[in-house]
Amino acid sequence: MKFNELPIHPSILKNCQRMGYTTPTKIQQKAIPPVLEGRDLLGLAQTGTGKTAAFALPILDQMMKQPQKGKRAIKALVLTPTRELAIQIVDNFQLYGQGLPLKTVVIFGGVKQGAQVDQLKKGADILIATPGRLLDLVGQRLLDLSQVEIFVLDEADRMLDMGFIHDVKRVSALLVNKKQTLLFSATMPKEIAGLAASLLKNPVRVEA
Ligand code: AMP
Repeated sequence: MKFNELPIHPSILKNCQRMGYTTPTKIQQKAIPPVLEGRDLLGLAQTGTGKTAAFALPILDQMMKQPQKGKRAIKALVLTPTRELAIQIVDNFQLYGQGLPLKTVVIFGGVKQGAQVDQLKKGADILIATPGRLLDLVGQRLLDLSQVEIFVLDEADRMLDMGFIHDVKRVSALLVNKKQTLLFSATMPKEIAGLAASLLKNPVRVEA
């Protein structure tokens, strides 16, 4: 299978081509078609398998299908456990989404919030976040997640190891307009299986 056989917006495919991607990785081949169809997904995959593109490409495609009316609202949220992962993910969205009229913002803890808040005030379509900073800004009413339709929970098992599961559940409860959830985890301890069962509706299960 080649990238250009996937029903993804041509500008996004061109960006993949420019990055030298010719063939989707295994997780991309299995995950992208059902995600494009709007299905929930349980992805068993580690970093290095191409899992970021497996969710970023269909999200960007989805966002290109619904033109923004009026002010931008966050329509897609990616929750990830660490600052390093958050930065890697936003870099990927920027590369795959180059030239598209979409804005991706990243927020994480350990730094002053001012610059992140300024970015949010300018408007974002896609938000990449770590749980603590996200809940902090929601608590200060500086962040509105009520329009989020696609929710990605990245590295769910690591969230558990880092003690973030309660925060993840709190974030999920804020997504009143959620239509699709994608959960990625390298391993499937019983707490994550339970979380997946509560968050996902009739998910497709794919392995890298
Ligand atoms: P990830 O598992 O998402 O962290 O991706 C691992 C690395 O593989 C990243 O450096 C990506 O840029 C790269 N990558 C992802 N998908 C592909 C692909 N289909 N072909 C070649 N490289 C890829």
